[in-house]
Amino acid sequence: MDLILRNARVVGAEQTLTDIGISGGRIAAIAPSLAADGESIDVDGRLVSPGFVETHIHLDKSCILDRCRSERGDIAEAIAETAKAKAAFTAEDVHARAARTLEKAILQGTTHMRTHLEVDPGIGLRGLDGVMPLVKQYDWAIDLQICVFPQEGLLNNLGTDELIVAALERGCRAVGGVPYTDSDPPGQIDRIFALAREYDVDVDFHLDFGESADGMQLEHVCRRTEEFGYGGRVAVGHVTRAVSLSPPAFEAVARRMADAGVALTVLPATELYLMGRDHKHDYHVTRGTVPAHKLLRHGVNCSLSSNNILNPFTPYGDCSQLRMANLYANVCQVGTPADMRECFAMVTRRPAQMMRLTDYGLAVGKSADLVVLDAASPAMAVAELNPVLYAFKRGRMTASRQPATLHRPR
Ligand SMILES: [Zn+2]
Repeated sequence: MDLILRNARVVGAEQTLTDIGISGGRIAAIAPSLAADGESIDVDGRLVSPGFVETHIHLDKSCILDRCRSERGDIAEAIAETAKAKAAFTAEDVHARAARTLEKAILQGTTHMRTHLEVDPGIGLRGLDGVMPLVKQYDWAIDLQICVFPQEGLLNNLGTDELIVAALERGCRAVGGVPYTDSDPPGQIDRIFALAREYDVDVDFHLDFGESADGMQLEHVCRRTEEFGYGGRVAVGHVTRAVSLSPPAFEAVARRMADAGVALTVLPATELYLMGRDHKHDYHVTRGTVPAHKLLRHGVNCSLSSNNILNPFTPYGDCSQLRMANLYANVCQVGTPADMRECFAMVTRRPAQMMRLTDYGLAVGKSADLVVLDAASPAMAVAELNPVLYAFKRGRMTASRQPATLHRPR
């Protein structure tokens, strides 16, 4: 073996300690007291999980807090301020900020990522020029997939369509949209599906960001998903409008998404920051975070993701997926061990399924993309926010940190 992780608690079988043998970048054996030679690390009963999977983050506009105002803290201000800052973006600048954010994610144990990347006549392809080289530069630590999308509208923003086509030609593996910033939301959805089919890429929308349940486009996305035979290849982010649905209506939406094969990504840090800003007088602020764990019970796949790092959409960010799981659990009042475990699944196994990652998981033959957490179980990792002690990509250590030490008086 090239490497053996000894005395591991493997996610899904945490009751017993086992060894994980890694050879040629792959998991070669999982067995207690593995009789094998090779460099070994005794993880001393700690949790070993497949790496974290981030399905929704914006590397290109991360780390711009020092260039933007965030005073009203609403989505209109965030889009306008980012649009202003974007005008001065160069490929080099995007590359430097995106690399910084990507390295933070690697240090937090993220091994797979879909970054959403915007194009429009203002930024042109400079964002793509900045981010695209990172795919190869960091492939030693992370699988990075680019989802191109029109943040400032498609049908109302002349020249954007050509840029999306150009980005798809250059190898973006997913296409997204933001129907709520378009003059013709259903028209944008239709065009994005047509492009997805033409280039055989997955679809990932920003959808139904708002407070009331009026004007939701989710049904339109579900219908198109079925018509295009795209079940299992479509994700939607936010859908905060669903928070104000009555319980029976919410359940109907859940069943509809499950039937169509449309997955949901919840972005709790952004939703909590941007939502409810127009509640000037009643102080009853909408939190806008969809209770995804309740959708899971109806067969909808869901992930939790960071979305934005240090910009007017979300002026926070450590790229910790585990922190998103903990934040989500707290906001959505998750308490049972079974639901806590699902919060962990929504930053690991479930987003992997959303991105259709076939070479993922803690099983013999899979790529050794692993994290060691200073935790005893997935549920406790979410509850305690335990640090990542090691991260591995294809069996090679990519990040490590020491557990904190208490210095008692002598
Ligand atoms: Zn987003």
